[in-house]
Amino acid sequence: MLDDLKANNSAWAARKTAVDPGFFKRLVGQQAPEYLWIGCSDSRVPANEIVDLDPGEVFVHRNIANLAPPQDANYLSVLQFAVDVLKVKHILVVGHYGCGGIAAAIDGQRRGLIDHWLHPIREVAHEHRHELATLPEERARLDRLCELNVIRQVRNVASDVFVQDAWARGQQLCVHGWVYSLETGLVNDLGVTVGGPQELNRLEEL
Ligand code: ZN
Repeated sequence: MLDDLKANNSAWAARKTAVDPGFFKRLVGQQAPEYLWIGCSDSRVPANEIVDLDPGEVFVHRNIANLAPPQDANYLSVLQFAVDVLKVKHILVVGHYGCGGIAAAIDGQRRGLIDHWLHPIREVAHEHRHELATLPEERARLDRLCELNVIRQVRNVASDVFVQDAWARGQQLCVHGWVYSLETGLVNDLGVTVGGPQELNRLEEL
């Protein structure tokens, strides 16, 4: 069972050690990543590969449609550990164009539990319905909704008490919003970076 994956794993570990004999030994002691990645579970959007980072360099939280819901204990636990213990300097909220979760949120079909999970996206779509209605193509509307969802999640992260308290302590911490293109492999920085309470106020006016 899974012999291909086990063979891949031993070859990968051998390659890493060949280039850097101390690689795994160093990571055993501790992790000290500078980045928290909040991304979609989609198999085509792997955090480390996209930004070409090694194990130990990015703390990762992924769920369907890269949400940061302020009542989700899983996300909040990751956020608190990343901010308070790891003291990451950057939080990257990374959506992607062509996200199935975004499309499923607003296609009107019933799927069960996932409809509840995706509810915040329907709220974003409703709040921005006038802007979205000006876009002639469905593809463009979905792409824009991917962006608007990322911006909303950046606001959720930046307004969280863990992040607010970190800023109040003088901790250096920026929250960024990106959208990744499956077609080009490139990320689109939405320019909504928040590095403190004043910048969050500006973002909330958008
Ligand atoms: Zn997705």
